[in-house]
Amino acid sequence: MGLQFCKHLKLGFDTVYIHWANAKIRNSTSDDDYLYSVLLNKLSEISGISYINIAETARVCGRQKLAAKLLQLETSASNKVPLLLSMSFHSLALKESISSGNVDLIYLVLFSLYNQLPLGDFFKLVSTNKFASLLFVKYCLNLNKLSVLKNFHFQEDDYFGSFLLHVLEVYNSPLENTEFISHFNSIISLLSKDPDMSLEHRELILQAKLLSLQCKLEADLTNAQLTVRYNNYTPTYLKSLPSLSSLNSSLNAYASKHGQHLSFVGLSLFQTITKLVLLKQYSLANSVKHDFNVADSSYYHLKLRALVKIRDFVELDKLSKAKNSPIGFKPFVDELTNAQQFQEAAKYIPFCKLSQRPPLYLKINFLNEAVEAAIAAKDIGTLRSIHEQSTQYKPTKLEADLSHLSQGDQQALQKLVAASKIIDSIYFKQLWKGCLELKERLQRDSSKSEKDALLYKYFMVIKGPWDASDDDNSFIEGVPKKPLGSNVYPEDMTKEEFLSWVDTLCEDDKKRARGFYDVIERDCDGKLQLKGYNEAYKEYLEPAAQLLQEASELVSDASLSAFLLGRSKSFIDNDYVTSEISWLKIAESSPIEVAIGPYEVYKDNLFSSKSFYESFIHVRDFDETKNLAKFTDSLQFIESHLPVPDKYKNTELKKPTIVVVNEIYSGGDTSVPMTAAYNLPNDEEAIKIAGAKLTLIKNVQYGKFESVLTPISNLVLVEEQQKHVDFGAFFTHVLLHEVAHSNGPHHIVDDSNTTVRSRMEELHSTLEEAKADITGLFAASLLVKNNTITGITLEQFYVTYLASAFRSIRFGLNEAHGRGQAIQLNYLVDNGGFEYEDGSGKVKVNFENIETAVSNLTRDILIIQGNGSKEDAANFVEKYGNNREKTIKLLDLLADVPIDIQPIWREVSESAQPGSKCIIF
Ligand SMILES: [Zn+2]
Repeated sequence: MGLQFCKHLKLGFDTVYIHWANAKIRNSTSDDDYLYSVLLNKLSEISGISYINIAETARVCGRQKLAAKLLQLETSASNKVPLLLSMSFHSLALKESISSGNVDLIYLVLFSLYNQLPLGDFFKLVSTNKFASLLFVKYCLNLNKLSVLKNFHFQEDDYFGSFLLHVLEVYNSPLENTEFISHFNSIISLLSKDPDMSLEHRELILQAKLLSLQCKLEADLTNAQLTVRYNNYTPTYLKSLPSLSSLNSSLNAYASKHGQHLSFVGLSLFQTITKLVLLKQYSLANSVKHDFNVADSSYYHLKLRALVKIRDFVELDKLSKAKNSPIGFKPFVDELTNAQQFQEAAKYIPFCKLSQRPPLYLKINFLNEAVEAAIAAKDIGTLRSIHEQSTQYKPTKLEADLSHLSQGDQQALQKLVAASKIIDSIYFKQLWKGCLELKERLQRDSSKSEKDALLYKYFMVIKGPWDASDDDNSFIEGVPKKPLGSNVYPEDMTKEEFLSWVDTLCEDDKKRARGFYDVIERDCDGKLQLKGYNEAYKEYLEPAAQLLQEASELVSDASLSAFLLGRSKSFIDNDYVTSEISWLKIAESSPIEVAIGPYEVYKDNLFSSKSFYESFIHVRDFDETKNLAKFTDSLQFIESHLPVPDKYKNTELKKPTIVVVNEIYSGGDTSVPMTAAYNLPNDEEAIKIAGAKLTLIKNVQYGKFESVLTPISNLVLVEEQQKHVDFGAFFTHVLLHEVAHSNGPHHIVDDSNTTVRSRMEELHSTLEEAKADITGLFAASLLVKNNTITGITLEQFYVTYLASAFRSIRFGLNEAHGRGQAIQLNYLVDNGGFEYEDGSGKVKVNFENIETAVSNLTRDILIIQGNGSKEDAANFVEKYGNNREKTIKLLDLLADVPIDIQPIWREVSESAQPGSKCIIF
């Protein structure tokens, strides 16, 4: 009835229920339990009702128990806690306030109880709950109610708490040390009464002892008046309180006002020992260790850290040898590494556990040691880091746009990539007689474990077991030193034996013996003999020839097709000149660019005459090719302006064809550092007939500039010249380098039938690369001045070139480009073109001198080549082809910069549709 009624009046249902409940309580004579069940039965018909009002009615009617029970039903703590308090349900009120997590509410209860209850009862109640105790202590401290607090602790038999309060009181009135110590000792006895506090007690006795020691130390070492610093004696939870931080500052202010030294007093025991070591008071530190029974391991840690800080490596060495280090040797390495003392750190790594060594070496950039240690410890993680982030060869995605390729061209790419993989095998066979077998073993084993997989991967990145960036040392156990003549001469053959054998040959065979395409071997009597590459590598060349032939049927461009067919024939009959000429005739409109066959002679360290198989599979970048073609028009202009007498100039200059490409795959003799450009053919016979073609690989060059040259520039160049480092200058100089291979004498001046290469033998590659670099730079200044090159300044060319010198030198002095660059750097420094800045040791271009210095170096190299005196060449290379101290210092800064990039290829997709956009990495 009441409910129907209130519907009409639009009253809330709860109001009616509450009214009903209140009336029921007032009128009922039943006991609390019965009445509670009646009320609950009715009130549970409605949810969310507030019980506060009903409980209050019960309280007023003297039904305390019922009121408490009803309040249990109430969900809002802030409503019910005040009521519980007013009904004197103290402990329940405290409990509810704490479980509400509402700090204000808890304070309200604490306050109210503090005022209502006798102090003893209050303390008893508060101490039943840890959180409440802490809040109360905090409250007292904040308001500086220290006497209340002291009382609280006393009631609680909390001796430690009481002790702390004593200490706080002491803080409030700074005492002199001696006074403090006596006070301190007397309050320590407080603590000794508490059986649970024996640990703290002992700790405090130790503190008193330390304080006495520190006073004595200060008296001895600084002879200064002393005062107390309290930090030491304050537990952490008290330190966070605001009253203490203000205390802290007032004490510090007091100390500084009185000009007092706080140098020992106030330090912890460990800090005291550290301080003594820092002051080089080693025997004092040692006696403190013994007096205070400091554990060996802690003492070692402290002393180690302090010694590294003051760089006392002699004492550190003594420490490591005093007895078997209780902390091992890893902390030595860690501390030294953190302090950037890498050479010192390296001394302790061999004493660490086998498993600890690889990452430690890696951290200090001792990569070769890291590889060895990782292999010894079977440490996959480190091998992966060495391989992947190694600092040496940054994996880089190589992108290329295939959208303009026909379906046939895309299918041909697959054939060409397959042929390139065969070229890899031939190359390994040429490199060393055990190499292909080693490669196949590593490849087979690569599925066994991750470590094996990584070994194989690294082998493929550096294309063999010898690391050019590590003086050609092998990273695989059991591999001999790299043979000078690789596997294209008998390993035991000397130069003298070869030369006297050549003398016995007919003219044709003489040419073959010194030529590109024949292996020198021993017959069954041990005599030297010739064997054509087609015979020596028949089992690989035949399937590769088959693939080239198939590709020739698929490609869209007829001239490319002719080259592929011709090259396929060369693989069988060993005549490369014919197909080199058809390679030079590949139309500028062909969308695919391929170089595959025996080309470079860098790996022949005996005579620089045997060519090694390699392959490049590219797609053309037509826009860039057009941009760059204008430089070939300048070739004669450059030649005419070379700073040498006319007889050193090339009179048979042939304009090289220039193409710009993006790389899809490369195989064979194409390890890191990645080829960024090449000028082929190398065969003078083919060049005489049809010239040469320059291929610039733009995606590779861009990767190098970003990942290598830029970070190098930031480290070696003086700051004000870093702004001149520029990709355009870098890219154009690579082009000019390649153009410049055509410049200058290729035959010696007084015998036009003798090539420079045959005279210079193993020195030729180094000199020729140096020539191309410096003549390219010389050409840059000519072409900027006559406006052929626009948008790149001479400053950009010179500065970018200087930074780039450091990039090349890092390839190692065993590598032609690296040594060639060392020659140029030293020559230009000696001639004032480059300078090392005093102090920082960084390099800069001297813009006044650089032009003349470049011109002089161009002249000197061209004349040495043209004169054909190997002795002059040897003296020149000997004088300049090394790394001097200032260079080495800068190279040391580059430890974290990649030496070069390594390619990340993606398989050429079989389902690639003609005309579809397909990015290849
Ligand atoms: Zn070159």
